[in-house]
Amino acid sequence: MKTIAAQLQKIRQQISDAERRFERSPGSAQLLAVSKTKPIDAIRAAIAEGQHSFGENYLQEAVEKIETLHNPALDWHFIGAIQSNKTATIAANFNWVHTVDRLKIARRLSEQRPESLPPLNICLQVNTSGEQSKSGITFDELEDLAKEVVALPGVSLRGLMTIPAPEDDFERQRLPFRQLRLALERLNQQGHQLDTLSMGMSSDLEAAIAEGATYVRIGSAIFGARN
Ligand SMILES: *Cc1c(COP(=O)(O)O)cnc(C)c1O
Repeated sequence: MKTIAAQLQKIRQQISDAERRFERSPGSAQLLAVSKTKPIDAIRAAIAEGQHSFGENYLQEAVEKIETLHNPALDWHFIGAIQSNKTATIAANFNWVHTVDRLKIARRLSEQRPESLPPLNICLQVNTSGEQSKSGITFDELEDLAKEVVALPGVSLRGLMTIPAPEDDFERQRLPFRQLRLALERLNQQGHQLDTLSMGMSSDLEAAIAEGATYVRIGSAIFGARN
């Protein structure tokens, strides 16, 4: 597990270098460690290095990890596809959900959020690349969905999330991230108070930070390739 410590160190350095290069304030781009498919000991190794925010995609696997670690200092982010019959489990176990793209799901998360917990932080997922296969709403749908979601008492609308199509060129990587930032700025001009841009993964985190990412979601660069 030494490699996890080393790779985490390297990613943190990459993030702080990018913050400096793109005139972001130190710590403004937070690291979400994506631990999906990885064993619980890999998460423990990251915790030992001071990592507290983890992203998971598969609900049953995630809940097992959350219950086993049973550590209130951790925050858990659901970043996978959401089936509507699983919303109660998500609402009860997570601090954040990044992948909301339907009002029905937002309503269920709000209704099912236990009253003993603060409102569930959520991001709306936007399909910035227009690929049919990708989940997420279009930019055109954003304003109406945000208006409905912000009125729900059990969730707190924090911002926007995207997973763009893979792209090697740095300037081209920036484009969908810039569009997402501009969409967030437009919503805030309309009266929303959104503070979160969840964007950037192992291969495009610098471009995301250049465009204002507040969470980069990093899996393989910390924990190694997935099968
Ligand atoms: C798996 C996953 C990541 C992490 O991807 P890496 O390329 O391994 O960094 C980030 N975001 C989402 C939504 C994912 O599903």
